[in-house]
Amino acid sequence: MVQLVPTHDEVMAILKRTGAFREGHFVYPSGRHTPHYFQMPLAFRYYDTARVLAVALSRLLRVEKEISSALPKIAIISPGPGGIPVAFGVREALNAEQIYWAEREEGKRMFRQYVQRGEVNPCIIVDDIIRSGKAIRETVDLVRELGAHVIGCGTIVRFKDAPADLGEDVPIKALVEFDAKFYDKGEDCHDCKEGAPPEHVRF
Ligand SMILES: [Zn+2]
Repeated sequence: MVQLVPTHDEVMAILKRTGAFREGHFVYPSGRHTPHYFQMPLAFRYYDTARVLAVALSRLLRVEKEISSALPKIAIISPGPGGIPVAFGVREALNAEQIYWAEREEGKRMFRQYVQRGEVNPCIIVDDIIRSGKAIRETVDLVRELGAHVIGCGTIVRFKDAPADLGEDVPIKALVEFDAKFYDKGEDCHDCKEGAPPEHVRF
């Protein structure tokens, strides 16, 4: 049976409709300016939309032989809060056994206390959006410290400048590969030149 995965345009239409993809004039905390912004949890506030996106991502992941052959003894892992609804949705679609998510405590990404070495199944790391890939890299390190093997990675949106794989033949599967535009300084920013008022975003 052929299982359809929504196209880039179909996913972008969902993200626009839910307010998760926004166009305008935004300034990141780093000071970079951009004409677009993703606030992904806005797409995951609607259960039906969340389900469509997670099922689509699960289909991209399931075609990987290493994943399909390891199911259901797999852990789905989120680097942070944004990926938690993705992790639960993908878990449901793949019928995977475990879910973990990391959180930042005093600036350091970590799992909850008492997650023991050797308990974590081979894992798929999932997130809602990969902008630089830093969160994913930190999570891969965490997982390896626990002695677990990373067999897959997936995200709803990946910025094209972010890594496309985790090395070791683990590609990052994405429903949307987005060509993000940034201006390091306001003086280069198209919208600043047009005099458009900027909106400051928190992440
Ligand atoms: Zn600007």
